[in-house]
Amino acid sequence: MAELETGLVAVSGVIRQKQPEYHVLRLKAVAGDLSASQLACIAVVAEQYGSGFVHLSTRQGVEIHNVHRDHIDDARVALQAAGVEMGASGTRVRVIVACPGEATCKWGAFDTRKIAIELDKRFFNQEAPSKFKMAVTGCANNCTKANENDIGIKGAIEPEWVSSSCCDCGLCLKFCPAKAIERKESGSNGTRVYDYSIDREGCINCNICTQLCPGEAWVIGRQGYTFFIGGTMGKIPRFATVLKKLVESEEELYDLTRKALTCFRNNGRKKERFGHMIDRIGIEKVREEILGTS
Ligand code: SF4
Ligand code: SF4
Ligand code: SF4
Repeated sequence: MAELETGLVAVSGVIRQKQPEYHVLRLKAVAGDLSASQLACIAVVAEQYGSGFVHLSTRQGVEIHNVHRDHIDDARVALQAAGVEMGASGTRVRVIVACPGEATCKWGAFDTRKIAIELDKRFFNQEAPSKFKMAVTGCANNCTKANENDIGIKGAIEPEWVSSSCCDCGLCLKFCPAKAIERKESGSNGTRVYDYSIDREGCINCNICTQLCPGEAWVIGRQGYTFFIGGTMGKIPRFATVLKKLVESEEELYDLTRKALTCFRNNGRKKERFGHMIDRIGIEKVREEILGTS
């Protein structure tokens, strides 16, 4: 759907429908959150200016369809009064998607909403060569599909083994999804010694071993975020590339995001997705520009 243009200025979040004169109002729900009173306001606006229903998009968006162009301004004013802002459309940074993370999910490794809100404050609606999507997901279960976004942020932990707490039950060998845990044994029956270790390359930094070990022998060593770039679905899907496996500070996340957007602006062609730009110019050059290393 094409963006509405008033004069030369595109109105973000207002999208022309195929029916002449009618538009979709795409609303902003950062991290998929709206308050009950905001939802009530959206319902009233959908009744009054749309056709009495809302559409839920695949990226946690709420859209009011079938708004006549003569009613767009009134609908926007009514939504703004309840703190409901317009979403993004066109070649801009789109609304930031996030799962609930540690707030309500037992697997959540961090406060996903906090990161999404900060990304929104810093980058939402900025211009880019093409649409630019970001998703934050609290753990390796990847409920918000971080690696299908231009930037994906996933909760990550690096486990350490505490030998004195381990009863050698062997369960972690079974439940590690990446089969990255190895048990080695040495000595004879009388002096048998065992040792559990991790293949750090193969480990996907999920928190399964630290959560499920009955003796709490797997503990969190380092904790942070895996940072992905260049994921996209659409006509030519591409899974994101891991730019950095463990980012340990929030500030570094925002710095990497800013540098990734700059790299995209400097190298991307009009309407080219970030991931396709990476394939065209090479990941080494992109790493060099964002991380200062290839
Ligand atoms: S990605 Fe992980 S933390 Fe987020 S909702 Fe899914 S299971 Fe929970
Ligand atoms: S699950 Fe825990 S206690 Fe059992 S073998 Fe693994 S580290 Fe040891
Ligand atoms: S963090 Fe996940 S992938 Fe890594 S060793 Fe533990 S269970 Fe396996």
